[in-house]
Amino acid sequence: MDSSGRVITRYRMPTLRQEGKDKVISRLLKAVAVIISGPEYKVEAIGVGCPGPLDSKKGIVLSPPNLPDWRGVRLKKIIETEFRIPVAVENDANCAGLGEAIAGAGRHASSMVLLTLGTGIGSAIVLDGKLWTGKGGFAAELGHTSIDINGPRCGCGNRGCIELYASATGVVRRMKKALKARGGAMTAESVFLASAKGGKAARRIVDETARYLGCALANIVNALDPEVIVLAGGMAKAGSGFIDKAEKEMRGRALKESSRGVRVVSAKLGEDAGIIGAAWRAKEL
Ligand SMILES: [Zn+2]
Repeated sequence: MDSSGRVITRYRMPTLRQEGKDKVISRLLKAVAVIISGPEYKVEAIGVGCPGPLDSKKGIVLSPPNLPDWRGVRLKKIIETEFRIPVAVENDANCAGLGEAIAGAGRHASSMVLLTLGTGIGSAIVLDGKLWTGKGGFAAELGHTSIDINGPRCGCGNRGCIELYASATGVVRRMKKALKARGGAMTAESVFLASAKGGKAARRIVDETARYLGCALANIVNALDPEVIVLAGGMAKAGSGFIDKAEKEMRGRALKESSRGVRVVSAKLGEDAGIIGAAWRAKEL
């Protein structure tokens, strides 16, 4: 990425995490080497987006749920030792949020919240062009704010986290429960498709999901009074009024003063958001 936030070149490879962290890291270093060897620019710093939670100051991976063998990996040190230029390591959801704030749907906004509705719910808070990372770097875990004290137990230890309802995984879980179905290949996409085709059970699940999400958005709006809320991930693209329904629910619940003027929009940059956000973190070093 250049200093204005424009992506100059990219190199893509599969993670293949089942091969273990050492092989993944060695592939990662090879990918960086390919980018650095480009003759038409000089790379001054490297930004890395990585699943959290992590210690972004020291660049140490702490305990990512989907990469269990990465606990304690000193990613910043490994990459700095190899390439001898500054390295920034940041939570991937924060990178996506920062990217959208700099060059995407949150551009020109003074405050922005990003929610990525995927396997879980990733989120980021950007205030005055800067990530809000909290006292220890763990801020903006909005997917783990509870909307039901008696709700199902979440992997984080809380109950009724919004991630259990409005993530793609949550939609499938609730649909299977409604149909009393076990196993089988169901995706959130297929539930949204069935709803669009008039399937009653699917329609109910999708409408409920929009209400759950709207409730979470109202909590965010009341807490932060943001200018823009950006929704990313497959479900944000589902269309057919899903975001509109969530927004309507939010406006019915949030304080009038803070919900007035807040915009709820879809993300613009796709996976470039994470690239731009990570590189911007490196630029800030
Ligand atoms: Zn949780």
